[in-house]
Amino acid sequence: MNSDWYSVRMRASIGSRHLSGAERLGRPEEVSTLTSRLTARAFAHVGGAPDNVNCTIEKLDAAEICQGFFPDVRTWQVTDFADGRLLASQLLVGAGVRAQVADSCIKLLAAGPAPGGAVMRGAMIVDAVSGQRLEPDAVRGVRVSRMDVAPDERSAVEEHLRQAGLGHPRVLEALVLAAKVLKAPGLLAELCWSDDPDYLTGYVATPAGGYQRINCLKERGSFSGGRVFLVDPHAWSRDPFIDFLQKKPVLLRGYPTIHPAESWGS
Ligand code: AMP
Repeated sequence: MNSDWYSVRMRASIGSRHLSGAERLGRPEEVSTLTSRLTARAFAHVGGAPDNVNCTIEKLDAAEICQGFFPDVRTWQVTDFADGRLLASQLLVGAGVRAQVADSCIKLLAAGPAPGGAVMRGAMIVDAVSGQRLEPDAVRGVRVSRMDVAPDERSAVEEHLRQAGLGHPRVLEALVLAAKVLKAPGLLAELCWSDDPDYLTGYVATPAGGYQRINCLKERGSFSGGRVFLVDPHAWSRDPFIDFLQKKPVLLRGYPTIHPAESWGS
C-alpha cells in the first residue's frame, strides 16, 4: 500500500456566513470518497443550501503524523441549560480555570463570541487566570485541523460508540477534535457547545477528567455556540500552541472508555 496520507477539508458558506466545515485524513485511494462524503454533508446542512463549498486536498508529510488516543467519555444528565452551565463551570474550575473566567467564557459563548455577537468559525483561546482573549483573529478564531481516527480502527470505534448510545456522528467528530486539543501544550480545558439550534449537548474536556458530555448547555432553537480553549499562562506559548492545533496531523488509535451516564443536579 502507498504510504502517503492526505488531509481532506470541506468548508461551506452562505454569502459571507460560515455554514459547515468538516475534515478527514486518508490514504490516496480514499480521497475521492472522503471528498464526496464531505461535500454531501455541506448540502445536507439544516442551515440551508450553500452558496459556496470549498474542498482542499493536501498531501501530508507522513513523518509528521503523530499518534493520539481517545479520552474517557462521561455523560452528565442535567435538567436544563442553567444547570448544565453550572456544571460546566465547576468542571472548568476543577481543571484550574478561575471561576470568573469560567463564567465569562460561558457568557461569551451564549452571547456569540465574535464581534457583533456572531458565532465564530473557530475557537477562542482564553487565559485561564486573567480571562484575556488570546486568539489572533476574533472573527475567525483558531480552527483545529488535520486529525482523524486511524482508518483501520474507524468502524470499531463507531460501533463502540453506537452500542453506548453515542452513535450520532457529531459525538465522534467532537471526540476526535477534543482528543487532539487535549494534547496541545499548555491546554487546561476545552468548553464547547454547538451552534446547531437542535443540538443541545456540549462538553468540557480536560486532561484529568477526559471528555465530559453535558446533555443540555443551551436552549432549543438558539443559534449560539462555539468553542473555547482555556490555557495555563505559565505553560503556554502562542505559536507552538496554534501551530500544533492547526498543522500537526494526529491519528487516533484504540477506542474510548465510556462510563455510564449520571444525573447531576444543583
Ligand atoms: P459544532 O460543534 O461543529 O457545531 O461547532 C461548534 C463551534 O465550534 C463552531 O461554532 C465553531 O465556533 C467551533 N468550531 C467548529 N469546528 C471547529 C474546529 N475545527 N476548530 C475550532 N473550533 C471549531
